[in-house]
Amino acid sequence: MKCEQCAKNSISSQPSLCADHFDSYIVDKVQNTIRTFSLLNKTDRVLVAASGGKDSTAVMHLLERLGYSFDIVAIDEGIKGYRKGTLEDLRVNAKNNSLKILSFKKEFDISLDEHMKKEKQHACRVCGVFRRKLIAKAANGYDVVVTGHNLDDEAQAIMMNVLKNNAALMNRLGPKTREQEGFTVRIKPLYFVSEKEVLTYVVMHKLPVRFVECPYQQDSFRGEVGRWINSLEKSSPGTKEKIVRKFLRTTLAVTEEPKQTCSRCGAPSARSVCRSCTLQGRV
Ligand code: SF4
Ligand code: ZN
Repeated sequence: MKCEQCAKNSISSQPSLCADHFDSYIVDKVQNTIRTFSLLNKTDRVLVAASGGKDSTAVMHLLERLGYSFDIVAIDEGIKGYRKGTLEDLRVNAKNNSLKILSFKKEFDISLDEHMKKEKQHACRVCGVFRRKLIAKAANGYDVVVTGHNLDDEAQAIMMNVLKNNAALMNRLGPKTREQEGFTVRIKPLYFVSEKEVLTYVVMHKLPVRFVECPYQQDSFRGEVGRWINSLEKSSPGTKEKIVRKFLRTTLAVTEEPKQTCSRCGAPSARSVCRSCTLQGRV
């Protein structure tokens, strides 16, 4: 297939673009998202929450190209055979930035693997609760936390929220969380960049990323929702973007629960005792 904008062979479909035009298309898309939703200023103190995976690697590469400087925080959940490798990739990628790695084992005295042996809970739920808590802690002193969430992640989260009516999840939707006293704003510059596009970008720029999956990923409800949305996208291209755009036009404007702080640890929380303290038995 040929590029829509020149005579070269395309490396992407929908839109069909050659490497050069695909690259400008992604840079423009991210720049437009940052501008449209007022995500970042050049003077902001920026912290990127990174994992060493393709999304955070791509977002850091793009921010650097757009002239933003940032520090990085990464979380070591303690997942055998998975996290060590991605953190090695991150160290290579982060050589020009300050990088802080916080671990579940050190901060909560238990790794995710150990927690899963003890408790019959869903790994991703436990993981998300502890990870958000550590990122909130690391975000102290920064104006904004950048995450690598992409279009697929957001479409999945919106549909999961529809299916579960989860208010805590709703608070984390949108390209930018609301600004409130005591809470560091979180932004998603890859909001309109699909997972496939992120993958193409990372491969095209030869960014050092190993494509390994978390061993807990397949079990997750999110995984099931993701597979369902992917099949819709196949039969009806543009579904993911439609889900997100429709959500932005309607739901986001009228929902969002006021946030508060946890009465046990003082961290941002939608409940009086945060999920992390609940998981640690501090109730
Ligand atoms: Fe954590 Fe689940 Fe992601 Fe694995 S897939 S890192 S358990 S949230
Ligand atoms: Zn072209």
